Amino acid sequence: MKKVRLGKTGLMVSRVALGGIPIMRVPKAEAAELVREAIGLGINFIDTAHVYSDSEEKIGEGIKGIRREDLVIASKSPANDKKAFNEHLETSLKRLGVDYIDIYQLHNIGSGARRDAVLAPGGAYEGLVEAVRAGKVRFPAFSSHSLPIVLELAKSGKFSVLQFPFNYIDYEAEKDLIPLAKELDMGFIAMKPMGGGLLDNAGLSFRYLLQYDSVVPDPGIERIEEIREIAAIVEKNEPLSGEDRKEIEKLRAEFGPSWCHRCDYCQPCPQGIPISSALGAKSSIKRFSPARWRELIGPALESARNCLECGECVKRCPYHLEIPKLLKESIAFWDDLNSGAA
Ligand code: SF4
Ligand code: SF4
Repeated sequence: MKKVRLGKTGLMVSRVALGGIPIMRVPKAEAAELVREAIGLGINFIDTAHVYSDSEEKIGEGIKGIRREDLVIASKSPANDKKAFNEHLETSLKRLGVDYIDIYQLHNIGSGARRDAVLAPGGAYEGLVEAVRAGKVRFPAFSSHSLPIVLELAKSGKFSVLQFPFNYIDYEAEKDLIPLAKELDMGFIAMKPMGGGLLDNAGLSFRYLLQYDSVVPDPGIERIEEIREIAAIVEKNEPLSGEDRKEIEKLRAEFGPSWCHRCDYCQPCPQGIPISSALGAKSSIKRFSPARWRELIGPALESARNCLECGECVKRCPYHLEIPKLLKESIAFWDDLNSGAA
């Protein structure tokens, strides 16, 4: 598989990474097989996180026996302070079974408060810099869902790599962030290249992303067939067709600005409402049979009736969605469907 330079790190990484969220759902033996299959397809770039339950461990199992220098491993810590950061890093190293991590990201710097905490004296960033000095991490990085914060942190010069959501629906990176990262020679990892599983046309998703030669898509993979399909699309490297462009325009209009990005940063909801499932009701109806959709989404929509409109979730949503209002719209859709009106 073609490799690209990940900005100023100089690391040569495969044109697509292996994202480690869905591997949490895969049984251990199959997870190791999945990782080895990806490596066999030429994917040398693997991204995980301290908070993805046993993802680091499963990846560690999958990379056993592979020469360390043949891999580029990225992980993340959600710590605010240096002490917690150091604990997370040691755990990540141990779980992955490696002496160093190439790219260690301060995970989801999504608010001014978190930014201030990690950058304060004794904060996680200090731990990251010390880890680079100690050779436990090669390059400092961060991930975020907030465009103003990602722009600010990129300009700070403190990081070599950033990770931000980017796909043909979440395309706010296109205008300023991608050119800025290029100008600063920062590595750009595209989070949620398939909209967190919502965009089911892999060909369209990757043809769109491959237009950006400085961006490395990081799809979460659960099944061997998925990574084979993506690797084949990447190898083909076809340009976006006129039909593709029309389809993207159509889908952008359909999803609109109230689209829930399914990041779940709005949680926890005091009423236990699975907000992203309830908000994604309309768009997910196309992906499942009616019976399966009802089984999967019905309970989320019923529990949405318990919303107290406390606004806690709104404060945490990096996209500032009007969640209580959108929940009401989803419930109305559900009610119409049940009464035969939709
Ligand atoms: S506004 Fe509703 S959905 Fe949001 S946290 Fe409060 S109860 Fe939960
Ligand atoms: S409502 Fe906002 S925070 Fe919650 S999952 Fe959707 S986009 Fe993320």
